[in-house]
Amino acid sequence: MENKYIKIFEDCQIVLGTNQAIICDLTRKKVLNMSKHGLEILLDSDRKLVSYFYNQFPNKETGEQIIKHLLDNEIVFLCDTKEELTSFPKFSSSYQKPSNILSHMIVDIGNLIWEAHLFETFIDAGTRHLQLRVSESHHLSQIDSILAFTKESAFKSFEIVVPHAIVNDDLIRKWYGINGRLKLIFLLGSGEFSKSFNEDKVMKINVKYDYCDLFDPIIPTSSSTFIVNHLFFVEASHKNIFYNGKVFISTEGKVKKSCFEEKSYGIVNRDFRIQGFINHPEVKKLWNTSKDDLQTCKDCEFRYICPDERLPQPSMNGNNLVMKELCNYDPYTGKWTFN
Ligand code: SF4
Repeated sequence: MENKYIKIFEDCQIVLGTNQAIICDLTRKKVLNMSKHGLEILLDSDRKLVSYFYNQFPNKETGEQIIKHLLDNEIVFLCDTKEELTSFPKFSSSYQKPSNILSHMIVDIGNLIWEAHLFETFIDAGTRHLQLRVSESHHLSQIDSILAFTKESAFKSFEIVVPHAIVNDDLIRKWYGINGRLKLIFLLGSGEFSKSFNEDKVMKINVKYDYCDLFDPIIPTSSSTFIVNHLFFVEASHKNIFYNGKVFISTEGKVKKSCFEEKSYGIVNRDFRIQGFINHPEVKKLWNTSKDDLQTCKDCEFRYICPDERLPQPSMNGNNLVMKELCNYDPYTGKWTFN
């Protein structure tokens, strides 16, 4: 064993935070915990002899136990020769998605009556995911009509975000009956933390509860909030995973880069130019701001699997980007607020 070489599986990505570290198993879609010190040694020992790994610990037994744990969990494997190490493809962290794609449209439903032509510019520009947000019961009927007239459109998936108090199961079934591409419903203000169920085998729809309301960003509340997969990991390494490729339309039809900001970039109508929005320096800056650029998040081991919705703001001195709201996780202590 000592003369074999250690190789970390490429889809087991080790992420170091300031005080903690994790292994993101991107194929099994799970997070594995180990001490930061142990993972630093593992990173240093990748492609080196097992004997080198053992020498990093106070005694050989500790090294043996850790290697067994890593082999049992398929985080590493062993190679007989140095040449063998070179025969495995490397993890690709390059981000392929074009930067001029507006993939998601998020619409706050209010007094503006949404007709098919208001969506056309966005569909023509390649937008394929539509999220409808509604806060008041007298606007719910607009959801019915939008789901109906976009049923045959190029939108691939639909989501609805709505206070739990103004919907019931019958309404959800009705919406799904109108448009079977409705994939996800967020029920907000339910007094429960995020959890999902998909009990109904006929409706291929997920319903998620969340404690926050429509006007608050969703901030992670526990490790169950994280999204562990290759695409998410790579995009989050380069971009703001929540805002990248998204446009928000307010209840008055104002086009924004976030629903949590006052500023708008035009009004949704036939004259609206999507490329002007996508190429606006402030939009580009937000989309290109990954968690590596943000105070506190850059020190967090969860930064490439975290779907945090907070809008980064310039700091007082303008040198950094910071968040107004605190996260529920403290990467310096490794503790969650709600635990
Ligand atoms: S500190 Fe940042 S990266 Fe870490 S859990 Fe909170 S929002 Fe996510």
